[in-house]
Amino acid sequence: ATISVLERVSHDGNKTMTVLGPLSNLVPPRGGGRGNDVDVDACASYRSGEHYDETPEGAAVRRCLNLGSYNYLGFADDWDVTCKRDVLGSLAALPSSVGSSRLEYGTTVLHREVERIVASFVGKEDAMALNMGFNTNATVIPALASTGDLIVSDELNHTSIVNGARASGAAIRTFRHNDAADLEMILREAIVYGQPRTRRSWNRILVVVEGVYSMEGEYCNLRDVVSVCKRYGAYVYLDEAHSIGAMGPTGRGCCEYTGVDPADVDVLMGTFTKSFGGMGGYVAADKSVIDELRRDCAGSAYHNSLSPVVCQQIISSFQVIMGKDGTDIGRRKLNALRDNSNYFRMRLTDMGLHVLGNYDSPIMPVMLYNPTKIAAFSRECLKRGLAVVVVGFPAVPILMSRARFCISAGHTRVDLDRALRELDEVADLLKLRYARSTFG
Ligand code: PMP
Repeated sequence: ATISVLERVSHDGNKTMTVLGPLSNLVPPRGGGRGNDVDVDACASYRSGEHYDETPEGAAVRRCLNLGSYNYLGFADDWDVTCKRDVLGSLAALPSSVGSSRLEYGTTVLHREVERIVASFVGKEDAMALNMGFNTNATVIPALASTGDLIVSDELNHTSIVNGARASGAAIRTFRHNDAADLEMILREAIVYGQPRTRRSWNRILVVVEGVYSMEGEYCNLRDVVSVCKRYGAYVYLDEAHSIGAMGPTGRGCCEYTGVDPADVDVLMGTFTKSFGGMGGYVAADKSVIDELRRDCAGSAYHNSLSPVVCQQIISSFQVIMGKDGTDIGRRKLNALRDNSNYFRMRLTDMGLHVLGNYDSPIMPVMLYNPTKIAAFSRECLKRGLAVVVVGFPAVPILMSRARFCISAGHTRVDLDRALRELDEVADLLKLRYARSTFG
């Protein structure tokens, strides 16, 4: 049976979210809930692709500390920052939608400005912005690879990458998560044996990895991945959804964090939904590749392009991160994100919880293991005013159920300490401690 765990949220103010419903039906009936007359978004279990209507009975509104969204630098709701003034100004001056794809009339000066900033920020010749991060992977990968090509994908890559790879028509192999030795074995085999049946060599081999893995909180072993790919002549595609604007001293992502030259990564992909408080995704590469993508990628030809107002949000966030707003707010936000993340991770570990991932990563999965604890954990957290994402099968293996915390620069120490106090109680209640720390 599928265990689907729900987050029903509408964002509401700084660091908090309003959670609707008592979360009493954490194992909802297949094929929909019991009603749809509540004016909230349908909710979805993370990565499972199943959608359920909100249940109308007993829906209650509760304000919670948001420990579940990817608002890494707090740009989604940080009204103090100067960039919000620009965004509010753009609301008055610009259309809310261009009503056109990029290939038609959906390109404004703001779209080009987003692309110019992204390319210079990540260290590539050019970039293309699309209206969704999901669509960026799902439509760019098929434009880069097709029949006769091989895509070698980390086994824990995001669904959007899986969708893109499947739609491409290329052959697909997966390698063990973050394991460069396994990747090397697959590449060696691919070079030696070539394509099945014909034994012709592969036209192109594209290796796809993520900067920070969203269910593991781990950053990519990028140095080894890049060096293996160089040895075997494979192209590297890096999804920086969770690392751009979040990792590295200046927020330039996994390349900066791991000391890899961006020139050694052929395609850098990222999203504006996490660190930039916007919408959409980008792909950055050599100009010739981006020119080709503008022509061939379905996301460029068939999707309405980003709203100009969202473009302004993205531009302004980048300017703050780069210190171009004349303040050091960006640097302080990056430092706060790292300090908050490391503090929270250290304290959770100290409680004897099993926390996955690496220091400096803002994503912190806490292992529940037993799937029967998923609903209880979510309910106990909500009772205590904490909104946390919980994850079960099929998003993760059934006995690897977990809760996932996402830390933001917008959290204060008071917020985090309150959450930790509550979680200490929940850990006792659900017997989550697997070890007593030697610290503290
Ligand atoms: N790539 C990864 C690694 C992701 O985790 C996500 C979504 N969280 C996406 C792509 C899709 O991005 P978006 O939600 O901005 O469409």
